[in-house]
Amino acid sequence: MDAHEFGIGSGVRKDAPSFSAFGNIGTVALLVEPTSDDELVAAAARLENFDLVGRATDTLFPDGRYDAAVLTTGAMTGSDFCGGEVVAAAGERLSALAKKAAVRGLSGLEKLCSIPGSAGGAAAMNAGAFGAEFADLVKWVDALADGKRVRLSPSECGFGYRASIFCKDVIVLSVALKLTRSTPKNVEAEMRRAVAARAASQPSGKSLGSAFKRVDGISAGWYIERAGLKGRRVGGAEISRKHAGFIVNVGGGSASDYVSLMRQAQSEVKDHCGVVLEPEVTILGGDKF
Ligand SMILES: Cc1cc2nc3c(=O)[nH]c(=O)nc-3n(C[C@H](O)[C@H](O)[C@H](O)COP(=O)(O)OP(=O)(O)OC[C@H]3O[C@@H](n4cnc5c(N)ncnc54)[C@H](O)[C@@H]3O)c2cc1C
Repeated sequence: MDAHEFGIGSGVRKDAPSFSAFGNIGTVALLVEPTSDDELVAAAARLENFDLVGRATDTLFPDGRYDAAVLTTGAMTGSDFCGGEVVAAAGERLSALAKKAAVRGLSGLEKLCSIPGSAGGAAAMNAGAFGAEFADLVKWVDALADGKRVRLSPSECGFGYRASIFCKDVIVLSVALKLTRSTPKNVEAEMRRAVAARAASQPSGKSLGSAFKRVDGISAGWYIERAGLKGRRVGGAEISRKHAGFIVNVGGGSASDYVSLMRQAQSEVKDHCGVVLEPEVTILGGDKF
C-alpha cells in the first residue's frame, strides 16, 4: 500500500498518531491526508470504508490503535479573496481565515474566529458563537456527494443548529463566504472582544468544546451544573469547573474517561432535570465504548 494507490502524491500513513483536540493518545491504522480537491476525490473513490475528519476539534478518537481508515482534510488549506468574498479550502483553519479577512478589513468572521476547527468542519457542524453561525456567511459549498462534485446553495446545505447535510457521503471541498466591508481596525477590535469573552467564560485546557448540544436554547452546561457535576472527574477527564459544558483533559485523559463522564452527565441530568442531553461531539469507533 502506498500513496499512489490512493491517487495522491503523499500523505498516506500507517499507524499514524491520532490528533483529537482532547489530546488522548492513540494511533490510526491508516491516515489519508489529501492536499487538494482532486486528491480527496481520488482517495475517497478508492477507500472502501473510512471516517472523515477535518481538524478533529469536535471529534474523539479511540484510545490505543484505531483499526480503521481516516480521511482528513487538514492538509487542504488556502483561501482566495475576491472583493467581499472568500473561497476557503475545506481544511483551512477558521482562525487563519478570520485573520486574513481582518487584514483586508472584511467583517463577518469575528465572533467565530476562536472556534478552532476547519472551514469544512465549521460548515458540517454549522459552528456558532456569540449569536453568529457559520451558515449566515455561506454563499455556496462545493462538495463531493456520492462520488460527484456538486455546488450547493445555502438552502441545499440543510443548515440547522449544529447540523447540516455534510458528512462522509457529502464532503465539503471548499466553501465561499460573503463578508462585508469594514476596516481592519474595527474587525480586529471585534475579534479581540470575542477572544476575551471566550477566555473569560471557557476553560483553556484540552477539550472538544461543548460536549453536548443545547436543549431548547439552554446550554447543556447549565443543566450539568444544576445536577451538581462541575468538577466531577473520571481518570484524567474533568467536567470543567469554569464551564460545565466542557470536558477537559487534566492530564492523561483517555477517550473512555471522556465517554464515561458523558454518560454520567446524561444519566444524572436526566434524573435531576428530566432532560436528555444529545452529544455534540463525534465519537469515532463509538461502538467500542
Ligand atoms: C476549545 C474549543 C472551543 C470550541 N468552541 C466552539 C464554539 O464556540 N462553537 C462551535 O460551534 N464549536 C466549537 N468547538 C467545536 C469545534 O471546534 C467546531 O465544531 C468545528 O467547527 C469543528 O471543525 P473540525 O475541522 O475540527 O471538525 P472535526 O472535529 O474534524 O469534524 C466534526 C464533524 O464534521 C465532519 N466534517 C469535518 N470536515 C468535513 C468536511 N470537509 N465535509 C463534511 N463533513 C466534515 C466530521 O465528519 C465530523 O462529523 C470548539 C472546540 C474546542 C476544542
